[in-house]
Amino acid sequence: MVHINDNFTKLPSAYLFSDIARKVEAFAASHPGEKIIRMGIGDVTRPICPAASEALHRATADESEAATFRGYGPEQGYGFLREAIAEGDYRSRGIEVSADEIFVSDGAKSDTGNIGDILASDTRVAMTDPVYPVYIDTNVMAGRAGTLGSDGRWSRIIYLPVTAGNGFVPSLPSERPDVIYLCFPNNPTGTVLTRSQLKVWVDYALREGSLILFDAAYEAFVSSPEVPRSIYEIEGARRVAIEFRSFSKTAGFTGLRCGYTVIPRELCGLAADGSEVSLHRLWLRRQTTKFNGASYLTQRAAEAIYSEEGRRQVAETIAYYKHNASTLLTSLREAGLEAYGGTDSPYIWLRTPDGMTSWGFFDMLLERCRVVGTPGCGFGPSGEGYLRLTAFATHEATAEAASRIAALRL
Ligand code: PLP
Repeated sequence: MVHINDNFTKLPSAYLFSDIARKVEAFAASHPGEKIIRMGIGDVTRPICPAASEALHRATADESEAATFRGYGPEQGYGFLREAIAEGDYRSRGIEVSADEIFVSDGAKSDTGNIGDILASDTRVAMTDPVYPVYIDTNVMAGRAGTLGSDGRWSRIIYLPVTAGNGFVPSLPSERPDVIYLCFPNNPTGTVLTRSQLKVWVDYALREGSLILFDAAYEAFVSSPEVPRSIYEIEGARRVAIEFRSFSKTAGFTGLRCGYTVIPRELCGLAADGSEVSLHRLWLRRQTTKFNGASYLTQRAAEAIYSEEGRRQVAETIAYYKHNASTLLTSLREAGLEAYGGTDSPYIWLRTPDGMTSWGFFDMLLERCRVVGTPGCGFGPSGEGYLRLTAFATHEATAEAASRIAALRL
């Protein structure tokens, strides 16, 4: 029989969302007719904007005519989209990123998960805790995480706790990591770093020769002027950082699937013989070998987001979710709960009351408010004692959930 990649057997089963679904189903079955408000899973609910939808239709027509048909496209993405991204997300904001530094993909999950392909297998990795689970699990699969301790921590991962205790600002590690995953605005905490707080990390990476993997999947939710939307707003970041972006939360592309990764030309890594190798060149090689490009239809839809009407429509949707986040934050705080995030992010991170566990609070919200959140412990050991709520429901459902929780008088 074939030998498997044993690292997969080290992965604990992904119980979190299936446990949530099981509990919610059981509750719904025993409480027929009760309205349950789901604010657990981070999927959006608003449809793609009309500009993107019209572009999709036009692209379908292109594919249906011999004269305009497009088959395989460039693996890195069509020039029309890469140009639109470089201009719309970077150059127009005074940030130096060129179209040929952009790799279009089917989303940030693939890119943040696959980037490890171009890194050495003994790379020491640091990441914030709690964290988007893809970073941990893909490093476990690659054999970089070591063994899982009874405290829920992997022996070779350097954990950077982000909790109320440190104001959700990770401290520099005492041990030098080769790679540092940073995600801001953060999933799950909904918190952000200011420009000067992020600069501390860029300066550290420049000093130590570390690589920052910066996940900016939620940048569209940033409105505070002191909060950067891209790591390349920080001087020197082009020499130390890869940036991941997604159209999922920005423009409702969770079903359509499109995102992109920026790898600046000057970013290098070390080969075993000590020579410097361009990470851009390695990723291009990886993508052209293992990926055949996002679909033409999807890329046309993504391009439309950068048109004048596309921008306006996307901004309306983001404002819709931000209104929800603000409703939640205000009412939960007024009710005396400790709530974080939600200002530059669609996520609210609630401290559980009276030292309750994450699951204890989850059960209580389900049973007494018919509201579904995500227990913070599912995102890592430092998530225990918290619960995540999302702002992706309707205005009405959000307001109702907020008032039901406030009525608990915790
Ligand atoms: N990065 C973070 C931090 C996320 O929360 C998500 C989705 O929830 C992703 C990446 C994945 O985005 P995509 O839908 O583009 O794969």
